Amino acid sequence: MVVLLFGAPGSGKGTQSRFISERRKIPAISTGDMLRAECRAETELGLTARTVLASGGLVDDELVNALVVKRLSKRDCRQGFILDGYPRTVPQAIFLDGFLKRSGLPHPTVIHLDVPIAVLVSRLSSRRQCSSCDRVYNLLYRPPVKGGICDHDGHKLFQRNDDSEEVVRQRLEGYQNLCGPLLRYYSGPHYHRIDGQCAPQQISEQVKKLILADAKDKPRKPVRRATPLVPYPAPSTEIS
Ligand SMILES: [Zn+2]
Repeated sequence: MVVLLFGAPGSGKGTQSRFISERRKIPAISTGDMLRAECRAETELGLTARTVLASGGLVDDELVNALVVKRLSKRDCRQGFILDGYPRTVPQAIFLDGFLKRSGLPHPTVIHLDVPIAVLVSRLSSRRQCSSCDRVYNLLYRPPVKGGICDHDGHKLFQRNDDSEEVVRQRLEGYQNLCGPLLRYYSGPHYHRIDGQCAPQQISEQVKKLILADAKDKPRKPVRRATPLVPYPAPSTEIS
């Protein structure tokens, strides 16, 4: 099965991604993690991405598509996968559709963890980090034993600039603007909105029902192509 997880930062996507991955024994793939890995491994792709990111730009569709195809072509993805952070744009979604059809993979199950912006703002702006060991706390869910002090080493906690309410709000609005057209693109029987304000266990329960229902879908037959799909730019080194 192929799952696309949509949800703003702070919506609890990471938890559900791990949950589905364990239940269905399929890899959870985060494009953010992949981009960082490519940058670290200094592949041609990674170096191009790094240049784009350093200049403050967004990594373009072609580059992200290439990265995703490279990962999805690996053996562990043959039975399906979970994508987190991709597609981000409608052209990426169209590209992914083509890839799934050619690979004989099923239509993606779209799971949207929907949480109101006001709730996300309060969740994200409640994060605090230790100034010494980088441990992250949340005043709402995982507060330190002693206010403002790291449980681990007793150093002071601080709020990162990008967790300030104003920055968080801007980031979330940017995410929503980007996500709107995508959710419209995926509207239909495979789209499932889940109220992300429920407790994580309740959300997992709903997700479990969805992935069990969708498991009954028959896989499509692969479409034969005259030329193999070559990612652009051609990958230089494999990362595992
Ligand atoms: Zn600490």
